[in-house]
Amino acid sequence: MRFIPLILLVFVASASSFGQTIGYQLSMPEPHTHYFHVDIKIDELKDDSIDVKMPVWAPGSYLVREFSKNVENFNTDKGNFKLINKNTWRVYSKGSSTITISYDVYAFEMSVRTSFLDASHSYVNGTSLFMYLDGKKNLSSTLEITLPVDWKKITTSLERTSGKTFTYKVPNYDILVDSPIEMGNHQEFEFEASGVKHNVALYGEGNFNIELLKTDMAKIIEACTDVFGQNPNKEYTFIIHNLTHGSGGLEHLSSTTLQVNRWGYESGRKYERFLSLVAHEYFHLWNVKRIRPIALGPFDYDSENYTNLLWLCEGFTSYYDELLLKRAGYYDADKYLSKLASTISRVENQPGNKVQPVTEASFHAWIKAYRSNENSRNTTISYYPKGALLANALDLIILENTNAEKNLDDVLKLLWDEYYKKQNRGFTDLEFQTAVEQVAGKKLGDFFQNTVAGIKTIDYTTYFGYAGCEITNTKEGSGNVRLGVNTSDKNGRLIVTSVVRETAAYKYGLNVNDEIIAINGYRTVDNELSTLIDNYKAGDKINITISRDGIIKIISVTLANDTSVKYEIVPIENPTDKQKKIYKKWLSE
Ligand SMILES: [Zn+2]
Repeated sequence: MRFIPLILLVFVASASSFGQTIGYQLSMPEPHTHYFHVDIKIDELKDDSIDVKMPVWAPGSYLVREFSKNVENFNTDKGNFKLINKNTWRVYSKGSSTITISYDVYAFEMSVRTSFLDASHSYVNGTSLFMYLDGKKNLSSTLEITLPVDWKKITTSLERTSGKTFTYKVPNYDILVDSPIEMGNHQEFEFEASGVKHNVALYGEGNFNIELLKTDMAKIIEACTDVFGQNPNKEYTFIIHNLTHGSGGLEHLSSTTLQVNRWGYESGRKYERFLSLVAHEYFHLWNVKRIRPIALGPFDYDSENYTNLLWLCEGFTSYYDELLLKRAGYYDADKYLSKLASTISRVENQPGNKVQPVTEASFHAWIKAYRSNENSRNTTISYYPKGALLANALDLIILENTNAEKNLDDVLKLLWDEYYKKQNRGFTDLEFQTAVEQVAGKKLGDFFQNTVAGIKTIDYTTYFGYAGCEITNTKEGSGNVRLGVNTSDKNGRLIVTSVVRETAAYKYGLNVNDEIIAINGYRTVDNELSTLIDNYKAGDKINITISRDGIIKIISVTLANDTSVKYEIVPIENPTDKQKKIYKKWLSE
């Protein structure tokens, strides 16, 4: 009995100490028109004016998307307002302490990075819908959602206010926009893994088996949690969109959204790809959402947030999204090594790998990775697979230098303990390198300077050698020739879509958009080039008939050997004891 007044006292005291609060109201009066309506009620306003801003990007997806382009009917109930720039409205209070701002947002892009609304359901990724008050992102708020009459369900990781239907308590703006929301009449299920309750929303039909999903997702979650030894969430939400053409996901602090092929749940490669996506996004709840470069939080929603370390954020996560499937028993060692060898071939066959360091690929993601064109493969490298290969190299270096006592997991644990738990901040490039060196027990300046921040090829032979494995290029000396174009069939015409740097096509001037008609007078058959090209050898001169902007031309090309690679990684026959130990620890054999 004595505790009750005390609790009330604490509640009153803390409520008044919050001061200004913000109330967001979200409604969908005509969902088939794809317009959300948002009201933002601000009280205890002391300033003469306040700037209200729409983010320009969605964290986790490094492109300025200008979300204010979808805003209409911005208005306030008191005073007036003016536009300051592309995403800022200055609202004048005219002495009023309470003001309500309202606007509509058009939402018809079904991606994990944006918001979507139609007659069947709606999905919200907050930065594309909710505005914030400049300088006041730390204020707590409430979110009240009014659903269309025949919709019954909302799934989100936001904390529901007890007793009120679809009203949520939001600690600050960052949490509001880091908590995606699925609304409609979707299926839901829950399961427990690693001591955490997991809620799953499934929108759309598909060939999934919920009981199997519970078992397999739990296995992946446990493998992820084992890396860090600790899962920071009490609850976690998966929003899964089952679509005809779906692939990809976006990470959040206590949730994720996955877009998957609705028929991708049958066993085999497609299902492994789904499980790998689950592992990838779940792993991000540590790596990126909590273990993070200094530039990635608190976010600046107003412009690009530059970092050199997306190769850690996405590359390490890509390394683990496959390695964890091996640890969880979905791959055997042969299969894992064959997948790793394919990634190496993919990276080494991309000319941009010899041009762009992975740190620059990270920094310029905003203008290159997310804005690719027909020349991108020649000039850029993706920090996803390249970062995964660097993670793999570091894993093997650490294993070698610590006699298999430590591995890359220990780097992530160290970053987790030091920068998230102790200091609760992002780290610099140098702090990250120092953490790797500390675990490896050796200086890695040359590796970081030349292989990470430079374009030096990863020394695969040496690193796989540490684990008693041999890497071989199975195409070496094949004698095949290569023209060096990628093509596509457009209405029965064979059109060049990209030209590979340093190949015959590049050297002799075939262009993107050229239509290839014939080689040495022989018409291309079934839009297949190789049947004609394979008749020649290196040094042979061929005449290629093309149509360029409707004008027929003949381009003479001297063919050269195909220098692309196809790697294979196999364990050697007689490994040393140390190699056996490293192999065992690396692949959890
Ligand atoms: Zn990712």
